[in-house]
Amino acid sequence: MNKKYLLKNATIYDGTGSNPFNGNVLIENGKIIEVGEIENVDAEIIDIKGKALAPGFIDMHSHDDIAMFVYPDMDFKLMQGVTTNVNGNCGSGTIPYSSADIVKWYPQMEGIPEWETYGEYLELVNQSKTSIHSAFLVGHGPIRKATVGNEQRMPTDKEFDLMKAWIKEGMEEGAVGLSTGLIYEPGRYSNTEELIELSKTISPYDGVYFSHMRNEAGHLIESVNETIKIGEEAGCSVEISHHKVSGEENWGKSVQSLEAIEDAQNRGLNVHSDQYPYNAGSTSLFAIVQNNAFTTGDGGMGSATGDKVLISSSSKDPSIEGKTLGDLCDEYDLPEQEAAQKLLSNDPDIFIVIEGMVEDDIARILAHPTTMIGSDGVPLPGKPHPRLYGCFPRVLGKYSREDGVISMQDAIHKMTGLSAIKSNLNDRGFIKKGLNADIVIFDEGTIIDKATYDNPRVYPDGIIHVFIDGEFAVKNGEQTDLRAGKVAKRS
Ligand SMILES: [Zn+2]
Repeated sequence: MNKKYLLKNATIYDGTGSNPFNGNVLIENGKIIEVGEIENVDAEIIDIKGKALAPGFIDMHSHDDIAMFVYPDMDFKLMQGVTTNVNGNCGSGTIPYSSADIVKWYPQMEGIPEWETYGEYLELVNQSKTSIHSAFLVGHGPIRKATVGNEQRMPTDKEFDLMKAWIKEGMEEGAVGLSTGLIYEPGRYSNTEELIELSKTISPYDGVYFSHMRNEAGHLIESVNETIKIGEEAGCSVEISHHKVSGEENWGKSVQSLEAIEDAQNRGLNVHSDQYPYNAGSTSLFAIVQNNAFTTGDGGMGSATGDKVLISSSSKDPSIEGKTLGDLCDEYDLPEQEAAQKLLSNDPDIFIVIEGMVEDDIARILAHPTTMIGSDGVPLPGKPHPRLYGCFPRVLGKYSREDGVISMQDAIHKMTGLSAIKSNLNDRGFIKKGLNADIVIFDEGTIIDKATYDNPRVYPDGIIHVFIDGEFAVKNGEQTDLRAGKVAKRS
């Protein structure tokens, strides 16, 4: 039985990007009932005078498709104010089911019931009693792996039919769109034509093509142009994943990458990007070696040196977590490439944090009106990238309040209303009568991330309450036992 709450005297950021206003919000049965003056109602009053009230944050770049079963508390997301994840980014996905891929990253999943269809997977999501809602993308990776695999060629007609059938099934079940990861296997072996052909399947559903592009370094602009071309020729909306400029030799190129997005917008295309506000990324060690980070530096992520690469997770040898590759080069007396290969021969699934971006590009991308917020957090053991715990409060505390890169209302728009519109999740993202009562209440004066590279598993400061479906999921800074998370489907 849902309670009725009157959230009183709040500074309301409604998610549209307009100026905040003072007012009250009445919520009941999972919905926002009224916004405004509201007097004399029979409801539990929560006085939040002086505190900010905003729609629950939407994480446009999530990787919790499987993690939500292992960590249903989802504290790392909820405690930063996230109420909806968009999962399945970077070409990862859950259909067709691959036990080997799933157990490789999450050994706890050994023996869990397998699913054959999106319908079955989504039913498990609904049953899993997670704390936050989950929207999803169809991942290009598993459907290509199950058909063409790692062969560098066009799919045959038969393979195309199979891949399109999976995409169609996902879209019919409410997927937000299709994602690709073009530095990873098998995505890196697909050409532009394959991706255009597949993306045509999502266009009738108003789906979004999300892409971790082929290159975020020396060939960033060509990659942005390829991504836009795919959307243009397939007739679908586009989102560039974790928009960044990697490698010192490429810093400043965000001027051109943002111009390319503006040009596309001016041609009437629906092109956006998402971003996490840090100067380091995180991915698998295998991927950066495969993309020549230590040799030519032109494989997608710019050049890397050992001191900029931190080992964040190794299930086979946790003793190396927290060391830099530079430390291990010294230990083994080997150069980076060989030291990395030695590590991979013992554990092919090492995850790393890699420093490579500069503040000017981060700020320029963040300030652009087409950019949304996505954490790209990956909840692996060890020392995960701090974005997993701190992404959203860092935008609000550091980039808005402290550095003045964007206003508070714009920052909130980028994590709520804009994200909801882009994803066609029309039942959330704004403080508006009739929408879901997923609401964050925070202290504008103190909100800040506390997670660091050395100590990443720390909750942010300043999040006071989080409501999911009109009930307390976080109360006075503490997570409650509410597990109301459900599948969020495209409207
Ligand atoms: Zn990615």
